[in-house]
Amino acid sequence: MLKVHALGGYNEVGRNMTCIEVDDEAVILDMGLYMDRFIAVQERGGEMNRKVLGAEDAIPDDAPINAIRKKVKAILVSHAHLDHIGALKWMASRYRCPIVATPYTAEVIKKHVKDTERIVSVNVNSSYTVSKKMAAEFINVTHSIPQCATINLKTPYGNIVYALDYKNDNHPTLGQKTNISRLKKIDNVLLLIADSTNAEEERKTFSEHIAKEMLKDIIMGMETEGHGMFLTTFSSHLARLKGMLQISKMLGRKAVFIGRSFYEYISAAENLGMVQFSKDAELIKNAGKADKKLKNLQKHRDEYMFVVTGGMGEQKAVLTRIVNDEFPLVIEPQDFVIFSCEVIPTPVIQANRKILEQKLHRKQARLFKDVHVSGHASREDLRDLIKILSPHHILPAHGDLTKTAAMASLGGEMGYELGKTVHILQNGQKIRL
Ligand SMILES: [Zn+2]
Repeated sequence: MLKVHALGGYNEVGRNMTCIEVDDEAVILDMGLYMDRFIAVQERGGEMNRKVLGAEDAIPDDAPINAIRKKVKAILVSHAHLDHIGALKWMASRYRCPIVATPYTAEVIKKHVKDTERIVSVNVNSSYTVSKKMAAEFINVTHSIPQCATINLKTPYGNIVYALDYKNDNHPTLGQKTNISRLKKIDNVLLLIADSTNAEEERKTFSEHIAKEMLKDIIMGMETEGHGMFLTTFSSHLARLKGMLQISKMLGRKAVFIGRSFYEYISAAENLGMVQFSKDAELIKNAGKADKKLKNLQKHRDEYMFVVTGGMGEQKAVLTRIVNDEFPLVIEPQDFVIFSCEVIPTPVIQANRKILEQKLHRKQARLFKDVHVSGHASREDLRDLIKILSPHHILPAHGDLTKTAAMASLGGEMGYELGKTVHILQNGQKIRL
């Protein structure tokens, strides 16, 4: 008997969590936050616990698997984005089993769970034995964070390929390419759980290399002399940060990364020897406690390139606080503000970002938006993935109904039948295969 329980990420982009039940055992795939709701709770203030976050839909609801909780043999984690790991802090203690992830993901998770001895680190392109019945292979794929894995769960009923999140970047600027040759060798794929985030986008998602060239085009090709330069992106996007650092050197300015979450992701990568940012750049963890330093940076502002947190307009992030004049480092007219990110299309985030942009306009900054390529496969990459794996069944995940339906329609174009071989589930529903 094999059942798939859709617990989170089937009604929204975020709070990903799936449970695979195989006879008398089970594994959980990811345990993430719904960032929009999480930010709303954070900004409202007050106590944060599982109950509060659950009531606000900020974390997955695992009640549907209450009866099988003791059967769970492992929590397998695909990558270190908060919409895949962020709920571990609040929910992992409900399960007595190892939390298994690639080394970088494991390093980041250490800051999220108390009992760190539970965390098992598995190299990319290696396997972890879950039990006599099951093994999990962590296949290296590209995304927008290092060491993202497509997990191939081997069960007695066939292989289940969990491809959240997935991109096929042929020219990654950090880490290895997607291990296509390994994906091609997997046979008997019973089920593909697919990343539907960009399933509506009729194209190929461009390489990270393209994003770097776009940034270079602005930074190296425009009248920047004498002006402040502020860049922002997702703090976990190490490849993008690396590109920014390289471009700052070309420009002859020193990069300064400001913000607590930059510090966390960069230091995790430095601990593992994956990058060496602090050799060439400055890292300011807590801008609120760096007045003297920021005053000095403000004085010599045209010698630096500031990379700050806050691309989504989060109220406590550095860019928002700079715009609100909370620091000695300020935005002056004609300063460059480059958003090397897209706006996550959820209500709270969109509203926050709009407010931030209005304030920047009042400061007469020059805005550059969407200097970005996505970390998620588009429709044509997904078509390739289905071709490569030829799964018996497809389960669209990581999206609301418009996105999962787009993925299902792609399945339809490729001969899959809705309800029979391609399945649309809502959070809390399950299927038996
Ligand atoms: Zn992700």
